[in-house]
Amino acid sequence: METDVLVVGGGPAGVACALAAAEEGSAVTLVERHGFLGGNLTAALVGTLGGLFVKGQEGFDYAVGGIPRRCAETLQGRGQAYGPVPWEETAVFPYVPWGLKSLFDEWMEKAGVRLMLHSCMTGAGREGGRVEEVTVWRKGGEVRLRAKAFVDASGDADLALAAGVPLEGSPVQFPAMNFYMANVNVAEALTAGLSTLKSLIHEAIEKGDYDLPRDGGAVIPTMRPGEVIVAMGRISLDGRPVDCANPEELAYAELEGRRQARLLADFLKAKMPGFAEAYLLDAPAQVGVRATRRLAGRYILTREDVLGAASFPDAVCRSAWPVELHAEGKGTVLEFPPPGEYYQIPYRCLLPQEVGNMLVAGRCLSANFEGQASARVSATCMAMGEAAGTAAAMAVKAGKEAADIDVKALQERLRERGALI
Ligand SMILES: Cc1cc2nc3c(=O)[nH]c(=O)nc-3n(C[C@H](O)[C@H](O)[C@H](O)COP(=O)(O)OP(=O)(O)OC[C@H]3O[C@@H](n4cnc5c(N)ncnc54)[C@H](O)[C@@H]3O)c2cc1C
Repeated sequence: METDVLVVGGGPAGVACALAAAEEGSAVTLVERHGFLGGNLTAALVGTLGGLFVKGQEGFDYAVGGIPRRCAETLQGRGQAYGPVPWEETAVFPYVPWGLKSLFDEWMEKAGVRLMLHSCMTGAGREGGRVEEVTVWRKGGEVRLRAKAFVDASGDADLALAAGVPLEGSPVQFPAMNFYMANVNVAEALTAGLSTLKSLIHEAIEKGDYDLPRDGGAVIPTMRPGEVIVAMGRISLDGRPVDCANPEELAYAELEGRRQARLLADFLKAKMPGFAEAYLLDAPAQVGVRATRRLAGRYILTREDVLGAASFPDAVCRSAWPVELHAEGKGTVLEFPPPGEYYQIPYRCLLPQEVGNMLVAGRCLSANFEGQASARVSATCMAMGEAAGTAAAMAVKAGKEAADIDVKALQERLRERGALI
């Protein structure tokens, strides 16, 4: 099978990438191991789109344009998202996972993306500085797919690993399993608020009533009557974060995540106003994975870049999200760029060393541990995806490698698409 642009992974980065590349005129194939799109946002019920906003003079301004903004506005227009909801020094945007899943299906269909679902990329064939093909397993057996440009949006850098390009992967962040609760008296829960939840959690940890995994978290109303997403888990093994790139540890994380869901639902029912009659509706399709392998590409984004609001001549998108560390003990540490400011992500963070016709987008970008802890947020991943897809399509059109395209022309095209750089 042949295509112009082949994208591995249908999370926020991969969907934005496939959409942009198709809109720019490429024949695009998207390979996704699940039977639906959205990655962590749907498969792991993350619950809010983060990274959309930056604090402005009055209220919040969009920090990203293009596809992530289109996504937020479409969902909001359909009554399937709301916000900005102030959170710490920024704002988040809660959404209905079903709404996002449907929207991504519609986008792929309308743009003519060839969607291969229930298809897992298992290997790559490389010749010198080019990836020539990937191997994909699906029902019926293995297929080999050839393309002019490849994008790794697998979150775990699976394609980069298979292509043998330099990677980093340590340390990792704690994964977590969010879950749905139903029959909640949402008005009562909201009146009590996150401050009540926080003191109840602290009290329970101090008294030792409940062995809660994290000293914070949130319950996020989905806007559907009586329904919330609970985000209070944290999955460790001997006190350290579970490594979800390790298959044994990943299986443990799924079981431990569901055990925590039962514990947290019991805690909320017993303690939190509005939850007395609530029940655990369901756990998600998979545990939420924040970080595994990262590309060691042509530039490595760092904590100093985030906190110093760094700018780059080859910037392709921006982010105002803090360095968000779920890395030690039960607490979460947030370190923000200066108020109202944002940093840029350079094109080089999407480019592997050694290989010219491959890009990476999303949470496996080229960043160190702290840089990734900011850039992995979903709106930033979509913005990276849009940049990678636009770049891949430009490369195909020009008969060049993605690594050799004119970055000024890419920036111009991204701005025309409505992206903020
Ligand atoms: C518990 C938790 C809470 C979070 N909270 C928020 C939040 O509130 N707001 C926010 O914006 N972000 C949040 N995040 C972060 C955000 O969800 C992720 O960083 C983001 O989804 C990353 O997008 P991605 O497309 O790079 O990767 P992913 O979302 O991981 O998507 C990768 C996709 O690739 C597919 N895939 C992987 N390997 C293969 C393969 N070999 N073959 C085929 N397909 C493959 C996967 O199935 C998946 O669909 C949270 C994350 C977690 C884990």
